[in-house]
Amino acid sequence: MGHLRAHGPAAARTAANVFAVEREARNSGVDLRPSITTIAVSDVNGRFLSQQGIPTPGDPLTAATKFTEKIRHMMDSHPELVFEGIGISVPGRFDEHRHRVLFAPNLKWPEFDLRGPLEKATGLQVEMENAANACVLAEVWFGHAEKTRDMVVVTVSEGVGVGMFTNGQLARGLNGMAGEFGHVPLDLEGPQCSCKSRGCWEVYASNWAALRYYQESGAASNGPSFQVLLSLAESGDQMALKALDRMAHGIGRGMRMVVAGLSPEEIVFVGEFTRLWNRLGPVIEAEVGASVLVGKPPRVRPAAAKPSVARLRGAVALVLQKHFGPSAPVTRAREFTGARRAALRVQ
Ligand SMILES: [Zn+2]
Repeated sequence: MGHLRAHGPAAARTAANVFAVEREARNSGVDLRPSITTIAVSDVNGRFLSQQGIPTPGDPLTAATKFTEKIRHMMDSHPELVFEGIGISVPGRFDEHRHRVLFAPNLKWPEFDLRGPLEKATGLQVEMENAANACVLAEVWFGHAEKTRDMVVVTVSEGVGVGMFTNGQLARGLNGMAGEFGHVPLDLEGPQCSCKSRGCWEVYASNWAALRYYQESGAASNGPSFQVLLSLAESGDQMALKALDRMAHGIGRGMRMVVAGLSPEEIVFVGEFTRLWNRLGPVIEAEVGASVLVGKPPRVRPAAAKPSVARLRGAVALVLQKHFGPSAPVTRAREFTGARRAALRVQ
């Protein structure tokens, strides 16, 4: 990870294709339905040529087998394409030295190495990263934040993730664990969190939090999915709107520590809740504004792409920055030249 802006991605925006793998969780009330992993083929501009969702297997070993099957099948059905690598964004923290996903409480997998088996089976280089960090790279790589040196991306889904771009670099910290604000307890007597602690920021701010608020208001014993909750709110359901308002306040509450700690110029939100940004955005902006001690408050906005696309683009950016960024090994650059020629030949 390095000085991405200094390099400028435009040079690499010619050809070659990338597999993007993103586990997108869908939930239903308090019960976790099988979660969905999206596997997509993208060109280097982040345009998706095809994509497919599969249920996320319950353990990493099965996942490696299933993902390999799908990827090989997609490679076979696109013999005309040259593939540069596989990017995987995960709902956890990735230790790049030990090549393992370390902390993924919402995924409920043990510590695991997904990269090794996938590389062996596909012959492609695999890059993995925390979903929020991957979204930071996508913002930088795809040009929405080219002049920004201090930016925070907050991903809100079944948990809350924070990716930090500080002084023009992605902050990873020891074991890649930097940015776990979602698991800072705001109230030690609060509801139980997936990390086994209590009252973490994400139990007040995640999609699950909104569903809990909705159920607590006596709205339904059989809770809806978060997507349905959003639709209810869009159709004017007062209980759904109140639940989402509480979620927005929950997000804003935690933003105070993020703003105090990092003083970003810009904060980008990724998550389904941004569908109601007109209503929920101002709640969050007000909390962010209130936490600034001196000077102008940071810009606050939803990601330009839809949440599912933003995360997939994050997975694509992982491969691009690793292979074509300034820290890319010379050998990779040479391989890319070959790949580019091969791909151009068929266009
Ligand atoms: Zn927690």
